Amino acid sequence: MAQLITLTLTPKQAADSSFYTAAVARQMGIKQSDIALLRIVKRSVDARRGALKVNLTLEAFLDFEPMPEPIHFDYPNIENADPVIIIGAGPAGLFAALRLIELGKKPIIFERGKDVTARGKDIAQIQRGGVIDPDSNYAFGEGGAGTFSDGKLFTRSKKRGDYNRALQRLVYHGATEEILYEAHPHIGSDRLPRIIADIRRQIVECGGQIHFNSRVTGITIKDGRAVGVEVGDQRVEGAAVIIATGHSARDIYRMLDKSGVRLEAKPFAMGVRIEHPQRLINSIQYHNSEQMEYLPAASYSLVQQVGGRGVYSFCMCPGGFIVPAMTDQTESVVNGMSPSHRGSPFANSGFVTEIRHEDFAHLTEQYGELAGLEFQRQFEVMARAEANGNQTAPAQRVADFVAGRGSASLPSCSYVPGIVPSRLDCWMPEFISSRLREAIRIFDRRMRGYLTNEAVVVGVESRTSTPVRIPRDRQTLAHPEIEALYPAGEGAGYAGGIISAALDGERIAEAIVNNIR
Ligand SMILES: Cc1cc2nc3c(=O)[nH]c(=O)nc-3n(C[C@H](O)[C@H](O)[C@H](O)COP(=O)(O)OP(=O)(O)OC[C@H]3O[C@@H](n4cnc5c(N)ncnc54)[C@H](O)[C@@H]3O)c2cc1C
Repeated sequence: MAQLITLTLTPKQAADSSFYTAAVARQMGIKQSDIALLRIVKRSVDARRGALKVNLTLEAFLDFEPMPEPIHFDYPNIENADPVIIIGAGPAGLFAALRLIELGKKPIIFERGKDVTARGKDIAQIQRGGVIDPDSNYAFGEGGAGTFSDGKLFTRSKKRGDYNRALQRLVYHGATEEILYEAHPHIGSDRLPRIIADIRRQIVECGGQIHFNSRVTGITIKDGRAVGVEVGDQRVEGAAVIIATGHSARDIYRMLDKSGVRLEAKPFAMGVRIEHPQRLINSIQYHNSEQMEYLPAASYSLVQQVGGRGVYSFCMCPGGFIVPAMTDQTESVVNGMSPSHRGSPFANSGFVTEIRHEDFAHLTEQYGELAGLEFQRQFEVMARAEANGNQTAPAQRVADFVAGRGSASLPSCSYVPGIVPSRLDCWMPEFISSRLREAIRIFDRRMRGYLTNEAVVVGVESRTSTPVRIPRDRQTLAHPEIEALYPAGEGAGYAGGIISAALDGERIAEAIVNNIR
């Protein structure tokens, strides 16, 4: 049987496979040549209390032992099975489709955006300051919002088995095995598109369908049951309809609201992106160690209560880039991504505070349950007004933001369309800017040097989570009032991030199969 060995090493030793192989052989009392396979099952960096350590758990197979089976998923042919309609080819929609195939149903996906290759060209155009296609951008298109992202794969999901299976599924479709053992796994924006394309190949090969450039404009409801969707003047029917449209599909929320489908306003979070030089974050987090070169670009995660509300860092992208994530020409929205090597000289992170019902209560009379959505939109339009047009974003040096003074100049920044000086401390709602400023002061006590004019805040980070929930019944997971309508993923309010959306998609697929059996 394979043996598990845990070693605590310096970063340099952990980067040297001959060093740790010899250490394992010594610990097991065997010769190195007796080890047929040594694989890492867990790797984490411990940078607490000054001393930098890497904890490495290794699994050693001796040469007479059976080797581990390769990762495999069984996807049968489902061409003639019951069709289930999925709106949206993000992580929730795609993982729902794969799970439906495993369970013997035929997924038919409608995706408003383009396939991942064509979408890449539109994204390059957005970066150059060109027109934003409202159906093909950083949020919309094959793979959803997660495709051109950092590809961080964390989740707070309690079910470890499901989480591991989701990671294995990604490996099966082309992700590197590192994601199975890194404490903070990530894929990178350069690798994600190939994985997404492989998932599509699998779905189509099994007899499922994916229709691009196919924006769903209506749900067909008969006698309280969802029986299909409208795509332009085409109507398509299925045994169930999954809405996996993400949190940026405002037209979907409006369409559902108008059709009388019950929605619920929910709290969410908004703020800015904050960007520091990566070397500064490395030296803070790795205590200026001489062994920093053997470690990945450092990250951080900060959270603090300020004035009775949470303020926290979100979706931190070490060695990454800030990107224009708006879906409409009238808004300014930023987000972050990083390539697999995380090699850019910048460290950016969302930096947001909670937005509660009382903050958008003044919009409720006019917008009902969509009041939070409108509040979010107004914040983005405000940011756009502060920019120079195109995709430029308003920005302020961090120490100036905290001190409440303008920045005469700005530091270099990873945001390709460019940043322009703006008094974010003045035009943002006061309850947001004052909490962000106070939190930066507090975080500087935990990470000395965090509050610096070498860093910049960029507006605005507004799409961290959805301001609207599409309710579901606890038992069936369908909408409580509309049979066979299944809200899934981040846009429905049941996930936040790639993996949790993917897991929610799988869960919905399983619920559908149970309910229509
Ligand atoms: C730049 C960026 C970086 C990110 N980085 C990370 C990260 O590192 N790690 C992480 O966990 N999360 C990250 N996220 C968040 C993550 O991408 C989302 O949480 C996740 O993609 C949500 O999955 P989903 O399937 O629920 O929705 P989405 O991914 O939003 O997918 C919804 C899909 O539905 C389609 N759609 C919408 N309306 C319609 C319609 N009417 N008809 C047909 N199709 C429609 C959209 O085009 C889209 O493809 C990032 C997001 C962005 C924008």
